[in-house]
Amino acid sequence: MKKWFFLPLLCAALLCGCVREPSAQERSAQVFAMDTMMDITVYADDAAAAESALSAAEAEIHRLDGLLSRHDEASAVAAVNASSGAPVAVDEEVLSLLETAVSYSAQTGDAFDITVAPIMDAWNFTGDAPRVPSREELDALLVHVGDERIVFGDGTVTLEPGMAVDLGGIAKGYASDRLAAVFEEQGIDSAMVSLGGNVYVRGAKPDGSPWRVAVEDPNDPGAYLGVLSLTDAYAITSGGYQRYFEQDGVVYYHIIDPKTGDVARSGLTSATVICTNGTMGDALSTALFVMGYDRAVEFWKTYETDFDMILMDEDGTVYLTEGLKDRFDPSAAEHDYEYVYLSKN
Ligand code: ADP
Ligand code: MG
Repeated sequence: MKKWFFLPLLCAALLCGCVREPSAQERSAQVFAMDTMMDITVYADDAAAAESALSAAEAEIHRLDGLLSRHDEASAVAAVNASSGAPVAVDEEVLSLLETAVSYSAQTGDAFDITVAPIMDAWNFTGDAPRVPSREELDALLVHVGDERIVFGDGTVTLEPGMAVDLGGIAKGYASDRLAAVFEEQGIDSAMVSLGGNVYVRGAKPDGSPWRVAVEDPNDPGAYLGVLSLTDAYAITSGGYQRYFEQDGVVYYHIIDPKTGDVARSGLTSATVICTNGTMGDALSTALFVMGYDRAVEFWKTYETDFDMILMDEDGTVYLTEGLKDRFDPSAAEHDYEYVYLSKN
């Protein structure tokens, strides 16, 4: 009897979930910034609020691009890179992001290190003529790699001559955190952004259901490993398939092992971090990719902040952490991979 009594209540609750925002207005924009394509979609009760949030988000992305791009001579990061031994005045935001980046280096056993900039230049992944530097050339440049040598002063940063920083491994994650702050200011409860594969989902979809975030198949970009169901989360992937060139049948990609200066060949083809902080997710996805399976799993088990991850290895096995069991659906995968769940004990 009781069951029947409660049933109508349950239906009502479900219905409320479905029609929570019956008039949600959707607005989307595509922005090219930070050397990548970015998609932003926001929902608001009325069109003006959605448009205002969208333009605030676009403005914020362009502001950050102008601040953090080391190839833009007018940027704060370019000014830091021109230090050559003299202290450079930096505003608080950039100083704090540099300090955060350096802290991830210490935490990841130097798998993540923003001072790989001179090595990145030698490979020239983003230029017209990427090339494979010789061992001698890399060894000579490695002398300038090591972010423990960045000197932070009171509002200043000093780099030794020959040193430079590259925030490419963390800037998009930081941008996604900043967009979360912009949406908060703008009163936006439901939004999804993809900053060149760095995804941030805010709240749930307007119908109350979780956002569905596809995880790309590194062996077949365009195909998926599966789909994540997420609310209020960041899903950030590092993979060798995103920016690369091929020479003599060998593929070279843009994630570098700071210890060798060489392309990171750890046995992983992609590393995705699912967490609640974009800056952290971006730094860690790059670091986990460099670490490889064993170190990455050990890191996940012991790291001070909980996060989830998806690692794919060269043998075609997909490893997922236990927190994703109810949030990952592999049925959309086009290829037949083995899926293995990892637990902390
Ligand atoms: P994507 O930028 O494609 O999303 P990542 O977040 O992994 O991928 O960042 C790769 C970028 O980070 C490179 O283009 C380079 O600028 C920088 N980078 C490469 N290797 C490292 C590293 N080991 N530590 C820190 N930054 C790195
Ligand atoms: Mg990264």
